[in-house]
Amino acid sequence: MGGLPRYTPPMLTNFHTHCEFCDGKATAAAMADAARRAGFSILGFSSHAPLPFVTRWTMKQASLGDYVDAIRGLGRTHGPDMRILVGLEVDSIEGLCGPADGRFDGAGLDYRIGSVHFVLPDGAPAPTPEALDETGEPTFGFTVDESEEKFDDHLSRFYDGDAEAMVDDYYAAVAACARAGGFDILGHFDLVRKNNRGQRRFSEEGRRYRDAAMAAVEAVAESGAIVEINTGGMARGKTDSPYPAAWILRELKARGVGVCLNADAHETRHLSAHREDGLRAAAAAGYDRLTVIGPDGRFQVELG
Ligand SMILES: [Zn+2]
Ligand SMILES: [Zn+2]
Repeated sequence: MGGLPRYTPPMLTNFHTHCEFCDGKATAAAMADAARRAGFSILGFSSHAPLPFVTRWTMKQASLGDYVDAIRGLGRTHGPDMRILVGLEVDSIEGLCGPADGRFDGAGLDYRIGSVHFVLPDGAPAPTPEALDETGEPTFGFTVDESEEKFDDHLSRFYDGDAEAMVDDYYAAVAACARAGGFDILGHFDLVRKNNRGQRRFSEEGRRYRDAAMAAVEAVAESGAIVEINTGGMARGKTDSPYPAAWILRELKARGVGVCLNADAHETRHLSAHREDGLRAAAAAGYDRLTVIGPDGRFQVELG
């Protein structure tokens, strides 16, 4: 992490911002206005990138150009007081699509978040754009951040209720995403915790869980990507701590992995939500600075 310029605190940054181009609840302009009022120095937009099939929560392929134009326009409106970056949160679905597959190379993005939402159970159909049921839901797997009701239904249907097998698949997918690369920031490292409050569905302390997560830690450390400390699960009342868990953050720190602090905001009031918890988590893991992205590349911000 040496050699990067350091900026003095306080500097508010967020690189994980959704808006009405995907499943965000506010317009991009409203998100930018709220961030400006809150004193952010850098705001990065990261709409869910289009997938090779239609969903309710990702951007439509036809909207990509309008999205980039709209965010660039906001950059002109707010610059230079607040720098606005254009990014995408790109799903990694092994065998189907991912940040490294070049689909967005021509979009003129400033950065990409690589995220795993889908698990691909053994025995399910191979992931293809056509592997959808009559309601348009994929038959090749499911998203671990869906509602608890759907999550339980999918766990029993695809895994016969074996949540630990699902966890293995989730972290294998994170490791595969990291090995494939093509992104700057790894999104919500342990999103699989979202539907596990109180460790109701699986233990996060057992050997099996830790081994699965550690394989992903090693792959992410090799990738050179920044890992986000993501407070979105806390803001939505789903977790009591940011992603990643404290012990994972310590393992990342031990391997020299840089971290940034992101809200994963889908509405304006979440832009700074649980920011203090995120900063405390970084400090507790031994970090004294964040690694963030500016218009000219990565730099470091002191925690203060
Ligand atoms: Zn996500
Ligand atoms: Zn997100």
